[in-house]
Amino acid sequence: MEDYQYFLEKVNKFHGHTCAGIALGTRIALAAMKHLGLDPYKDNRKNIIAYVEVDRCMADAVMVITGCSPGKRSLKYVDYGKFAATLVNLSTGKAVRGTVKKVFSNKGDKEETLREILTTPDSRLVTLQDVNVEIPELDKPGPPKNKAVCEVCEERIVDGREVIQGGQTRCRACAYEKYYTECK
Ligand SMILES: [Zn+2]
Ligand SMILES: [Zn+2]
Repeated sequence: MEDYQYFLEKVNKFHGHTCAGIALGTRIALAAMKHLGLDPYKDNRKNIIAYVEVDRCMADAVMVITGCSPGKRSLKYVDYGKFAATLVNLSTGKAVRGTVKKVFSNKGDKEETLREILTTPDSRLVTLQDVNVEIPELDKPGPPKNKAVCEVCEERIVDGREVIQGGQTRCRACAYEKYYTECK
């Protein structure tokens, strides 16, 4: 309980508020780390790659507790819209996927919800599943392994994200669709 409170505070400082999402994310991250033999009090930044399956509150908890971040290429966002995260221990190669057994909402008594999340034992709150994660070479941390230039927009592309289309090297934005439109 004390541990959870400590880590929840740490996540709160980054996330900006305390909610069921970060409380559950904290529980998943700590349970997964324990399962992989990783000490959350230590600096694990070079030792873990985390996959988060949703870009909501919970992802911030996983990021803060594991020390993984997109800037270090150690936090991967997989757009599944699912309340789950997978942690890979890079020194052992072991990986575990964590989800929650129960849905908690932020409606109702917040204090009560948080207390329930923090006091329910791992066995009744978190489902851990041993998994294998094949991390592609081009997804691993370290200097960019591949550099290209889009023949349409002439912008640089790293890490093998270019595609060959119509005999041209193109960035994904030019090859498929952009998430933005240019202002006229
Ligand atoms: Zn939140
Ligand atoms: Zn382009």
